[in-house]
Order: sequence, then structure tokens, then C-alpha cells
Amino acid sequence: MTLEQDILARRTFAIISHPDAGKTTITEKLLLFGGAIRDAGTVKGKKSGKFATSDWMEIEKQRGISVTSSVMQFDYNGHRVNILDTPGHQDFSEDTYRTLMAVDSAVMVVDAAKGIEAQTLKLFKVCKMRGIPIFTFINKLDRQGKEPLELIEELEEVLGINAYPMNWPIGMGKEFLGIYDRYNKRVEQFRTEEAERFLPLDEEGGLAVDHPMKVTSYYSQAMDDILLLNEAGNEYSEEKIRRGELTPVFFGSALTNFGVQTFLETYLQFAPTPQPRITEDEQFIDPVEYNEFSGFIFKIQANMNPAHRDRIAFVRIVSGKFERGMNMTLARTGKSFKVTQSTQFLADDREIVDEAVAGDIIGLYDTGTYQIGDTVVGGKKAFQFEKLPQFTPELFMRVSAKNVMKAKQFHKGILQLVQEGAIQYYKTLHTEEVLLGAVGQLQFEVFEHRMKNEYNVEVKMEPVGNKIARWIENEDDVKESMSSARSMLVKDRFDNLVFLFENEFAMRWFSEKNENIKLYSLL
Ligand code: GDP
Repeated sequence: MTLEQDILARRTFAIISHPDAGKTTITEKLLLFGGAIRDAGTVKGKKSGKFATSDWMEIEKQRGISVTSSVMQFDYNGHRVNILDTPGHQDFSEDTYRTLMAVDSAVMVVDAAKGIEAQTLKLFKVCKMRGIPIFTFINKLDRQGKEPLELIEELEEVLGINAYPMNWPIGMGKEFLGIYDRYNKRVEQFRTEEAERFLPLDEEGGLAVDHPMKVTSYYSQAMDDILLLNEAGNEYSEEKIRRGELTPVFFGSALTNFGVQTFLETYLQFAPTPQPRITEDEQFIDPVEYNEFSGFIFKIQANMNPAHRDRIAFVRIVSGKFERGMNMTLARTGKSFKVTQSTQFLADDREIVDEAVAGDIIGLYDTGTYQIGDTVVGGKKAFQFEKLPQFTPELFMRVSAKNVMKAKQFHKGILQLVQEGAIQYYKTLHTEEVLLGAVGQLQFEVFEHRMKNEYNVEVKMEPVGNKIARWIENEDDVKESMSSARSMLVKDRFDNLVFLFENEFAMRWFSEKNENIKLYSLL
């Protein structure tokens, strides 16, 4: 295989969903198809309790969750699939968002009974901002959920994206008979042996064979719906799917392993190949055309192995090929080094990787060299990929060292963890108290744990609570007297002024009183 073919075989995506929609279950099924795991229940998950605890942070052991997202890889139908996990629940953090910067498309899993939930919406927005294609899997059809038409409507209204159902459920819950596959022109029967599972359609789009299903009301309902979709629904457009303007929708049931394989096979036909990325001076680095190695660091994970205290910097390869032992330059410092130790991620195991190409994720051992957003290049030309976006934090904590004698280590630790992107740094105006901001609670716990273990500092943390952070376009017009308990004025780590509002109401009240102040949020 040529390098080009190798690269074009890659499909790199993340699965986004609200907790409990079935992301772990579907991931597991995908890995089973790909032969990456043999048994269900192997994927790290809060309930399976089977993960290799020795490899993970203490905090993970205590809470039974995985702190940061991992990468899973398998081969299927000539494609090499990379799935990047995006943690949910309390472990939701900036890492979750940043992982979306490293993929070329996203699969959104929705619980048919619950529809679009809060976390799905948040993650969807980040995907949309990047314009990446989103594929939807509506899960748990083996249980009674909302009407399929209602779900499509909700998807379009809440997310503001057009939807194209690739297939349609026939019945639901106890009465779930199968799916009408508009794309592959067949009916796939639920709970049926593979040999008999697929039924062909006739010219008019009805079932071509005699089948007991045909006389049920579920079948006629599905046929009515399909007619409506054909006449009044969105038109199918691969172009729009690629631009992220139309989401293809699949129905299924991950738990019973129904519809997942059809989804995977159809998805792989459309899912984008590794996409170009833009540099700071607005050059496009094409995965194939630019044939030198390049990549960027989207995540740094600490203490994967507490015995070694190592950190892993996750690199999304943008172009060319990585080979162990190659020379790389870190664009920020201009320093070159030989990469002898690198690691790739396959389900639960970390393996040494010798080769990887654009689209793949590799981990580099890090002894404090890397920062989030760093670019590494293999060729002579050094350049920097566009900065990764910073996300608006929602939770804040006031922190200080328990022992004032440790102020130096305290500041050193904070500086490093902030640079790593583990947490965001703010300070109050005159007293210069340290406030930390995060998008998820777990970031604070990881912070506290790492300060103690890596910098030997016990920290005191006082919750400041949920705040709405807003930056200011015209800082010169801001007066300190505008700061109050409900609209606290602080500085970020670049010394930009930021208002932390107590709630929506406080923000509106402030804006009405101070119409001249222009506020904005990060992503
Ligand atoms: P995650 O939090 O999104 O990773 O969700 P999980 O995959 O852990 O699933 C949450 C719960 O929903 C578990 O109890 C699963 O067994 C269940 N579940 C997942 N998929 C299905 C499905 O297709 N049908 C039904 N009935 N339950 C499902």
C-alpha cells in the first residue's frame, strides 16, 4: 500500500452523547465487529469495572470512571477506524471538547426515549462550530421511546441541523419488528438470524416478499412515514453531509446489537478521510499532499502509570507518516529530538507503535516538554497549527496552599497544570487570589490530586460555584466600581478582564445598566 492509500483508509471520529444514551455499548459493538476485543464488557466503563486499574490514576480507581478519553483502533472493510472516546458524566471536562478538535467526524448517540439531552447539545455545538460531519444513531429502539417523526423534529429544532433518516423503525419496544433501510433498499428484521435478516424491497419501495410483518399496523405506519419523508423530508445530499449541514440518521438498538453493523458499514462509506488543518499563517496542510510528518497535541494525560509518573501527549497526525526513531521538531521552541518511545492506543492496552500515518493518534512520552496545542513537525519546515480554542468555564474554585510556606511549589504547579490545559487560571484584581475555572467538576479533583502527588502541595479549595464568564471587547470602558458580588471582575492568565456573573439574571441586569460594555464568551 502506498502512503496515500494508507492515509485515505483512515476514519477518525468521536462518539458524542449524554450519559446513559449507550455510547459505551455501541463502542463495544463496534470494537467487536472490528475484532479489537473479543468479549463485551471490555470497554472501560463506569459499570463494567473491568478496566486495568493499575494503569490508571488513583482517582479513577476511587470513582470507577475514566478520567480522560482514550483512543481505540480497528480495521474494518479495508478501513482503519480510530475512535476517540469523549468522557461524559462528572468526568466531562475541557479534554472532552478538545478531543473533538482531533477528529474528522462525530457520531451522536441519542436515547430514543429521551431525545436531545443537555450534554449532547453542548458537544454538538462544538462539532458544528468546526463544521465537521455529524452522524446520528438513535438508540434503544427495543424499548418504547418517542415517535420517530417527533425525534427527527426535535433533532432539527433543538440542534438546528437538517436530518435525513437513512432508515426507519418498524414498530418499537416490545413491538419492534425491524428497520426499513432507505439507503440499502431493504428491510432488516429484528432478532433474526443473519441468513434471514434482510428482506428485499420492490420497485414501489414496499416489501418484495410475502411476510407476516406486512399485515401489521407497524408496517403500514412505517410505510406512511416513509412516504411523508420522501415527499416532504429533506433531500439526500452527500455534499451537505460532508459540510456538516445535514445529519444522516440511523435507528437501532446497541444493546441487542441491532442496526449497529449496518450503521458502521454505511457510515464508513461517507465518513470523511483525514482532513487538512490550517496553520497560524493560514496555510492548509493536506494529509496527503504535504508529505512530511506533522501533527498537533490536543491532550496531555498525566500519571497513566503512577509507577513511572509519566505523562502522555496525544498527537493527532495531520500529514505524512510517523516512524519510531524519527526526528521531530517542536515548533514552539524550535528544538529537535529523536522519538524513540511512542505509544499507540488500542482498546485497553497501550502498545509501542512503530508507524502511524495522518489520521492516527499517537502518544508521546512527555517529561514536561509539551503543551496543549503544540505542533510537532518532521520536515525541515517548521510551522504552527492554529491555536486550539479555549472554552468558557462554568465552575469556579478559590484555591490556596494549605501551608503558606509552600507558596513557591504552589505557583509552579499551577503554572504547569494551566499550561498543560488541565484547568483555567484567573485571579482577583487587587488581592490576586487564585481562582480556577473548569467546564467539569472532575478537573478540580484531578488538579487537587496532582498538586499533592506531583508538586507535594496540599491545596485548600473553596467553591465559588457556577458562574457565567464573559470577556470584554472594550476593556478601557470598564470601571472597577462595576465589580460586585453578582458581577465579579477578575483577570484571566493573559491579564484580560473577565466578568463572572452569578447567573443569567445578573448578566442581563448588568448589560441593561451598562449598555456600553460589550461582552463576549469563548466557545
Ligand atoms: P453511556 O453512558 O452512554 O456510555 O451508556 P451505556 O452504554 O453505559 O448504556 C447505559 C445503559 O443503557 C446501560 O444499562 C445499557 O445496558 C443500556 N443500553 C444501551 N443501549 C441500549 C439499547 O439499545 N437498548 C436498551 N434497552 N438499553 C440499552
